[in-house]
Amino acid sequence: MAIPLPRTEQPVNLLGLTRGRLAEWLGAQGEKPFRATQLVKWIHQFGLDDFERMTNLPLVLRRRLAAEAVIAAPEIASAQRSADGTVKWLMRLADGNCVETVFIPEAGRNTLCISSQVGCALDCTFCATARQGFNRNLTAAEIVGQVWRANQALGAVHRDDRLITNVVFMGMGEPLANFDNVVAALELLVDDNAYGLSKRRVTVSTSGLVPALDRLRGAADVALAVSLHAPDDALRDELVPINRKYPIAELLAACRRYVDARHHKARITFEYVMLDGVNDSPRQARALARLLAPLPAKVNLIPFNPFPGTGYRCSPPAAIDRFRDVLQRHGLVTVTRRTRGDDIAAACGQLAGRVHDRRRRREVRS
Ligand code: SAH
Repeated sequence: MAIPLPRTEQPVNLLGLTRGRLAEWLGAQGEKPFRATQLVKWIHQFGLDDFERMTNLPLVLRRRLAAEAVIAAPEIASAQRSADGTVKWLMRLADGNCVETVFIPEAGRNTLCISSQVGCALDCTFCATARQGFNRNLTAAEIVGQVWRANQALGAVHRDDRLITNVVFMGMGEPLANFDNVVAALELLVDDNAYGLSKRRVTVSTSGLVPALDRLRGAADVALAVSLHAPDDALRDELVPINRKYPIAELLAACRRYVDARHHKARITFEYVMLDGVNDSPRQARALARLLAPLPAKVNLIPFNPFPGTGYRCSPPAAIDRFRDVLQRHGLVTVTRRTRGDDIAAACGQLAGRVHDRRRRREVRS
């Protein structure tokens, strides 16, 4: 009796392949490029993971796909719904790590906040994700898979439902530290045959990795948010330690190059977490206004969201309003981000997932 050969090749997960990569992969099997478009529509617009149901593909192709490929998104480990309608999912990856994904419904738009890494390596002092340590980058399939799974969970499996109108890379991780996978995901998010989101409604948020920001300019045309949080290097070195490598002047120069290269001359959003007695004085507001004056900027003030063990407190509402007023008097478009989902620890900086930390060799749970 013949002993079956062990299967060494893993099936390909099609969820993370851009239309171009899918066309290449199919082309190597003698298929025409339009098959990639059909597949992308079935996977991302219709939310299918079963090749049998892709009725406009020839039966032989469907059978071959079923043998060689999968469409596998992260599984929902748990879901929590906030009193304000925000939903937080803990999504389980194939290796047992979990990341968090948050759905934020608002009047006129519904935003999905997605993760790009298991944990984060950047150690910003006011962020809960940093406490979790870092395990690895998410694959493109795991990044896009959060959108795919959220659509399914929300009951929107056809794009016409348009439940998710905006996607922000503001979950766990530093997106620009996972460059290639994030760029592949961005391509699918704005591809009309996949999620078809407007380029202005897909936002990459970064703590300021300057070389990667320069690369992003040529690789994707999406909205940019920069986590600034301090008006001077001394304080930013402390809050956002990557500043020691890429100080504010270099970061803002890269921001300038980014706006200049974009087709839509959209503003860059600067995020600024409001920490009581740390970065919230009127003097610091004036310094921030001077810093940002040369750029097409808008400022998003984020009330600090506490988490267990933090030494920071959120600035009082009056201090936040005063800070905002100073910026506005200097002509800066400034909004205070409304805290959403804080009753389920789904707010900015509270995402923790379940990360098997590779640096500290211990598991930390939220
Ligand atoms: N790593 C990326 C994206 C993740 S966080 C970045 O740094 O931009 C999205 C935003 O939430 C960032 O501006 C981050 O600095 C901010 N944030 C982190 N912890 C926070 C907290 N505890 N309260 C409020 N905002 C926080």
